[in-house]
Amino acid sequence: SSYLKLLEENRMLYNQVRDLKGNIRVYCRVRPFLQHSDRRSVVEHIGENGNVIIMDPSKQGKDSRKNFSFNRAFGANATQSEIYADTQPLIRSVLDGYNVCIFAYGQTGSGKTYTMSGPDIKSESTMGVNYRALDDLFHISQSRQGIISYQLSVQMIEIYNEQVRDLLVADGSDRRYPLDIRNYSQLNGLNIPDASLVAVTCTQDVLELMKVGQRNRAVGATALNDRSSRSHSVLTIHIQGKESASGAKLKGCLHLVDLAGSERVDKSEATGDRLKEAQYINRSLSALGDVISALAQKSSHVPYRNSKLTQVLQDALGGQAKTLMFVHVNPEANAFGETISTLKFAERVASIELGAAQVNK
Ligand code: ADP
Repeated sequence: SSYLKLLEENRMLYNQVRDLKGNIRVYCRVRPFLQHSDRRSVVEHIGENGNVIIMDPSKQGKDSRKNFSFNRAFGANATQSEIYADTQPLIRSVLDGYNVCIFAYGQTGSGKTYTMSGPDIKSESTMGVNYRALDDLFHISQSRQGIISYQLSVQMIEIYNEQVRDLLVADGSDRRYPLDIRNYSQLNGLNIPDASLVAVTCTQDVLELMKVGQRNRAVGATALNDRSSRSHSVLTIHIQGKESASGAKLKGCLHLVDLAGSERVDKSEATGDRLKEAQYINRSLSALGDVISALAQKSSHVPYRNSKLTQVLQDALGGQAKTLMFVHVNPEANAFGETISTLKFAERVASIELGAAQVNK
């Protein structure tokens, strides 16, 4: 049995190394059915190799099936800790000086918040990626005490209708809205928005800041319908390290990005603010897709400047930076159209990188 254990450990190590090879990863997560929802699933198959087969409920036979391929695919039974186990190597790499972006993509109601935050802050077993990542950052940095000393600081911003807003201002203050992101300040060579930067020493510090951020996010929202699903929020943890023996410095950052809902709004129905919001969201999500696919194709021009989102994240997209996108799928038949467009977006972002990895084998 110790031989089996060794095999198992080797397999896990191999998986981690394989995972870290590419700089852009896309994981698909299909959420379970909710209590009262329509129970015909459009997801026919979820493979361990990242294959996902979707069935068009309006068609018959072979024509009804569409095949998608990702780095990993998780079904309704996947636990929060299983999802995080595959994310952890990336979090570790932030403390080695990498820049990492983790995105939650999908239509409203597909499980983005569930993956990133979890359904209940108080329950450890269902905690989302954000909390697990923070815990790991602090644990690992503490375990390296005496070898490397780390300083961690946090920013939290929101991008709504192509305007950047600092979420870590004193409660309710709109003073810093909208931020001029041409006024980038410099943090040890990194471009960052000119937003509040708060030093933190433990997970609890960050949780307190996240509460402030959530309250501020709600402030502008009174006149707007569910603002949080119509804006992108970016929680950034900046890391500066100093090696005790050599004095060598390193820096890295982790962006945890909860994207606006990707659903298309029917142009014939939406008007006014709603239509404007939808257009801004569409534009910024396609700008993000363009940047990631340009990077995956190793294109000489990467169009960072086409959206505020890609400008803010520029230092963490491309180069040595690592990107992970969780793509969320609602399995309900009535979401079929959105599911297909979500998966097409995700595949555009993922496929070229997967192709390159296959050539290298
Ligand atoms: P989004 O952030 O994309 O709008 P939510 O995360 O709020 O979506 O998810 C919508 C609903 O589905 C919530 O009630 C949430 O608790 C539930 N849900 C989403 N993903 C899961 C999951 N993996 N397991 C159990 N419930 C989930």
